[in-house]
Parts: sequence; C-alpha cells; structure tokens
Amino acid sequence: APAVGVFALQGDVREHLQTLTALGADAFAVRRPAELDRCDGLVLPGGESTTMAKLARTFELLDPLRKRVAEGMPAFGTCAGMILLADRIVDGAVGQETIGGLDVTVRRNAFGRQVDSFEADLPFRGLADTVHAVFIRAPWVEHAGPDVEVLAEAEGHPVAVRQGHLLATSFHPEVDGDGRVHRLFLEMLQR
Ligand code: GLN
Repeated sequence: APAVGVFALQGDVREHLQTLTALGADAFAVRRPAELDRCDGLVLPGGESTTMAKLARTFELLDPLRKRVAEGMPAFGTCAGMILLADRIVDGAVGQETIGGLDVTVRRNAFGRQVDSFEADLPFRGLADTVHAVFIRAPWVEHAGPDVEVLAEAEGHPVAVRQGHLLATSFHPEVDGDGRVHRLFLEMLQR
C-alpha cells in the first residue's frame, strides 16, 4: 500500500486519514521530518493556511516540504492545503509563506465576501458523476499557468486543479465521505 502522510500540525487531519485508510492506503500523520521521509505522497488538509505555514516553519518542516514537493513527491491540498501548494497568494497575510509548486495564484477567502460556507454539486473532469463540494472560507484560483489543468469550477473560477504530481481543491472532499477525489490522488501515486 502507498505510504500517504497527512500534514498534521494543524487542520482537519482525521477526516483525511479515515478516507485514505478506507481506500487502502497506509495513511499516517506527519508532524516531523522523519515522518515526511516515509511518505510516497502527502495530503495538506484544510485549516488555517497562515497558522499551518508558521507551524511548519517552527517545526522545521517547511523547507523539507518544499524540497520533497520540488523533487516530485505527489501532494494533494484541500482548501488551506491548496493555498500552501500555490506559488502566489492574493489577500494573504503579510509575509505569508507557502510550500509552492502549483503555478497558480489563489485568492484567500474568495467566496467569503458574500457567504462564509456553502455546498454545491460540481462536474469534475475525469469523474462520471458530480462531486458534492463543501466550501468553508474557501480560496479560488484567480490565475492558472499554462500547465495547470482545471478539473472543476464554481462561480466561474477554478476550484480543483492538477499540475503534474500536484492536485488541489478549494473544497473539502474529505468531509462527506465520497472518496473519489482521494482515489484520483492515489492513482497519481501509482504513476
Ligand atoms: N480561509 C482559510 C485559510 O486561508 C482556509 C479555510 C479552510 O481550509 N477551510 O487558510
């Protein structure tokens, strides 16, 4: 089974571990560099991206994360995790750091000006049926580079993207128990 870590310094870790385990992965929490070393792939959960980046810096995980992602380790970011994978942020906190790797600009709390949270059933490229998407103070992709594949959109903006070994969603596919987006990520690990 693929060894799939879930970044666990902050965020909704347990839901991801449960979903990954149910799909047959060897899923475990990642809080220190030795745990990151074990990973064939990594999930970056939802939470608070500024806090997650600060904690990663404090616990000496940020540079190892950047290195592994740059070297091609598959990673899947949801919501705050999408922000962590983005190369650029609009409306970020001053000096907010990311892991980077995804050639996108994300806007933090993008939908939040009108409404904090909402749910929608979205067509998702490569999946036969719509995905039930739960958005919680979610970002959207404001600009995507030429190598970024858009998998789903909401309100005219990309909310699921893939670029090579990196997958990211603005929403929380770990929340409603439908494992199809996680399965897509596990398929990326097999390549
Ligand atoms: N708004 C949060 C952030 O900027 C993300 C919210 C979430 O992950 N549910 O980090």
